[in-house]
Amino acid sequence: MRKRHQVFIANQWRDADDGAVMEVTNPATGKTIGTAPRCGRAETAIAIDAAFEAFEGWRDTLADERAAILMRLHDAMMDQQRPLAEILTEEMGKPIAEAMGEVAFSARFFKWFAEEARRVYGDTIPSPWPGKRIIIAKEPVGVVGAITPWNFPSSMIARKLAASMAAGCTMVIKPASQTPFSALAYGDLAVDAGAPPGVVNILTGTASEIAGEMCENPKLRKITFTGSTQIGKQLAAHAGAHMKRISMELGGNAPFIVFDDADIDAAVDGAMIAKFRNSGQTCVCANRILVQSGVYDVFTEKLKAAIGKLNVGDGMAPDVTQGPLIDEAAVAKMESQIADALEHGARIVAGGGSHALGGLFFQPTLLVDASAEMKIFSEETFGPIAPIFKFDTEEEAIDMANDTEYGLAGYAYTTNLGRAWRLSEKLQYGMVGINEGLVSTEVAPFGGVKQSGIGNEGSKYGLNDYLNIKYSLFGGLNL
Ligand code: NAP
Repeated sequence: MRKRHQVFIANQWRDADDGAVMEVTNPATGKTIGTAPRCGRAETAIAIDAAFEAFEGWRDTLADERAAILMRLHDAMMDQQRPLAEILTEEMGKPIAEAMGEVAFSARFFKWFAEEARRVYGDTIPSPWPGKRIIIAKEPVGVVGAITPWNFPSSMIARKLAASMAAGCTMVIKPASQTPFSALAYGDLAVDAGAPPGVVNILTGTASEIAGEMCENPKLRKITFTGSTQIGKQLAAHAGAHMKRISMELGGNAPFIVFDDADIDAAVDGAMIAKFRNSGQTCVCANRILVQSGVYDVFTEKLKAAIGKLNVGDGMAPDVTQGPLIDEAAVAKMESQIADALEHGARIVAGGGSHALGGLFFQPTLLVDASAEMKIFSEETFGPIAPIFKFDTEEEAIDMANDTEYGLAGYAYTTNLGRAWRLSEKLQYGMVGINEGLVSTEVAPFGGVKQSGIGNEGSKYGLNDYLNIKYSLFGGLNL
């Protein structure tokens, strides 16, 4: 698997019309690792045309044929797991072991939706009229535009592309400008798997232009976006003006609640995964750690000890567990959230600033005495800062947890069965982990409520986002 420096339209590799490119850097070294085309509206229209032309043929293929191609995509990804992981770590910075895991996670979506492709069932409804029949069919929505973020450069595409292909849709994908190469790799994988031209198209370039064309081009019927709530809202408004279907996977502000009755060691393990995986740059990251007063000190001590074992460095080194942050803006955000927290009375227990390695490396940081006035309570951190808030009662914890505009993932640790059920029902989140710090799997629906989004990815529900429901009434049957 080699890094591609061109965009992929109708199974052909090409440059931007004017030859413009954007540079891509390795966040661990600051060095340029290549360029990707800077495409705009014109190339997007060409890609949409290719997807539009491919659509009729693709929707008419047997589900079995689409399933076979998806399964070959899965196999091709697993055959190329290491080289794909290396591309991912080089452009994004996460430790190579996490990148290997992400590639395998991506591959599992192709396998899952290969299986689901054959289960797009319709319905019959008893007719209210004599001699007539009502049939409900599910049909692919058509050409889909996908816009994805840099934090999971491979799997955020896989969740969309696999479901779209299974449903019989064709797709134009625009990855984040920081991480184009994991996305472009899907071009080679699609060809190897036997995807017909136009089913998968991948464009890099200027986001506002590509998104603008996607929203306004009548041949494109749906936009699926993963990224920040701010951009998601703008995009949803623009897409809404042209009545496109939308799916939005947006930001989060996850509470991670630890009760006095919790298994504290398990809670610490869960907090480490939920907070520090991908250097804290995940949408389901534990953003606010809420700890009941009786275990506040012991939990803090144990979390501090676990943080002390993290190894910061270039993700390509095998023993590194924390890579760099993605860019300068991310470092500045960490510094601003920490300064604001200190101003409002927080204390630093571990880390607290840039790492001695310099560049974009940041120390895993533990703050105690955090409170609701701090930015860190209401803003998505998206980095390696763990703030600990204290609470006394279950009611208080639930109120604090729900006191946010976001609703993606929430976590709670307790050994009380009744409390576990109450938490799963009362937390206003699309996903809840009870005694678990990692909830993502291709078999369960991933998605948020409130300002964290619209729609679900993965699972049997994930296909619905790519299907229209059609009702046909059959009369004149002489029954
Ligand atoms: P972002 O700034 O919103 O960017 C996401 C994508 O949107 C990129 O491809 C970006 O392109 C593009 N974009 C930028 N401006 C745009 C515009 N005006 N119109 C349309 N698209 C535009 O988010 P990010 O910083 O890459 O990712 C982090 C965010 O994603 C966090 O908030 C995180 O919580 C969220 N996220 C959510 C999920 C989920 O499943 N809910 C999963 C992962 C991440 P350029 O790179 O070219 O600017």
